[in-house]
Amino acid sequence: MQKIQVKPGAKLQDYKAYGSLYSLVLDFLEQSKEAIASIQGSTIWMINSTAIGGGVAEMLPSQMRILRELGVSIEWLVIEAKDEAFFDLTKRIHNAIHGSGDGKFTPGDREVYEAVNKQNLPKALDLIADGDIVVVHDPQPMPLAAMLKKEKKVPIIWRCHIGLEDDTEVTDAVWKFLSPYTDDYDHFIFSLPAYVPKSLKSKTSIIPPAIDPLSHKNRALQLHKSIGILYQSGVLDNHKAILYHRYNHLVRRIMPDGSFGSPNQNSNLNLIYRPFVTEISRWDRLKGFKELMEAFIKMKKENQAHGDPEGLDYKRIQMTLLVMAGPDPAFVSDDPEGQAVLNELTKAYMALDAEMQNDIAILLLPLDNPKENALIVNALQRASSIIVQNSIQEGFGLTATEGMWKRKPLLVSGAAGLKFQVEHNKTGKINEDPTDIDSLSKTLAYMLNHTKERDKWGFNGQTRVIQHFTLFSQLISWLKVFEEQRLH
Ligand code: UDP
Repeated sequence: MQKIQVKPGAKLQDYKAYGSLYSLVLDFLEQSKEAIASIQGSTIWMINSTAIGGGVAEMLPSQMRILRELGVSIEWLVIEAKDEAFFDLTKRIHNAIHGSGDGKFTPGDREVYEAVNKQNLPKALDLIADGDIVVVHDPQPMPLAAMLKKEKKVPIIWRCHIGLEDDTEVTDAVWKFLSPYTDDYDHFIFSLPAYVPKSLKSKTSIIPPAIDPLSHKNRALQLHKSIGILYQSGVLDNHKAILYHRYNHLVRRIMPDGSFGSPNQNSNLNLIYRPFVTEISRWDRLKGFKELMEAFIKMKKENQAHGDPEGLDYKRIQMTLLVMAGPDPAFVSDDPEGQAVLNELTKAYMALDAEMQNDIAILLLPLDNPKENALIVNALQRASSIIVQNSIQEGFGLTATEGMWKRKPLLVSGAAGLKFQVEHNKTGKINEDPTDIDSLSKTLAYMLNHTKERDKWGFNGQTRVIQHFTLFSQLISWLKVFEEQRLH
């Protein structure tokens, strides 16, 4: 078990200095007072399985900084594990909660699961005191609750960051496997109501994920800064005004022959001079990249076949670029599924004609430097005309939140997390079935050619994020749970 140090960062006054966040911060301070007073004397212990990568590790530092500024004692522990079998098992548990895999778990699995957590117990027992509050994130450290409860008088909350809308045989099987551990928890937190298993409903609160508006992924970027980042990362070709050197590792693009090249090597993207539509995600089949590409191609072809070449609508669609971006596999050592999905997409791309290939960019973003990766995502999203998240299944879809925060119109599927965020015809469009290529291509064309609506949807999107999906909304909900769960 390792205690993670959190570096200094944005303070409340930095958030308050943004006009659009000012009243949000004041409301937060007002609404959190009582709960903060009620937990004085207790330390909140957040326990998860990684200090880098993934949503938990990304959001915890900002949340901890704010709570600490308000006098809350909060610490972060990460469990350590060397056993391959442990990661294999927790990945299977993770997938099964999402409804995939065979849902088979053996007594041997249980042994590994408990043994690794037991190795992490002594340090946790040294640190955690009676009356503290413990939050366990996701399945990896789940068995710790019973072990801790034997020795300490502490309420323990389980925060689940994943879920599936429907109960299936596989989800039933995994919840059954986990039931000896869930029995030991005082309370549960899920991201969406639809993800709560029946058996846990009575002890559950809902806290949707959220963004930090001042993180590198979301902070405001001036136009010249965005252009600078796009240049530094290799997305844009040489140009004159630059303050900084290029990054060590640059963005790469899939070439017509399937190899990896630099983004403008074969055809210039002219990225900042044309409308473009962006989806940024992991290379996961459930993200619906392939379907998005098919719909984009259909839209272009139909425009060419039936559009009026003199009309503005025709020209706009003709000019539009599709950007599909995800992690460069060179930095993801252990993701055969991701590699397979990228290969499939590459194969489909290689089969297109040259003109279509020029209008589609499959970009591979370097991951060696998290700050640079976040800035590239930020600049790409800010330069986009429309942000798409065409997921076949989606836990929540932070990319949609990120896009709305940046005042971008969203085109999303009807997957639970996306529908929860995007309001149809207010902050973008929901194309219910991500595999319905015809309807997706028509929706995309409609959005591209209704520029005023797009602007309006973008503005509404930011308001929606401020109202519901920033770390302040999240912290209010967390503090309410702490207040209710603390020992009297
Ligand atoms: N992301 C990133 N770099 C990439 C691809 C994705 O930083 O190359 C980020 C993206 O901006 C978002 C997160 O990864 O913040 C993905 O979260 P989301 O909820 O959309 O999907 P998940 O990956 O959790 O299924």
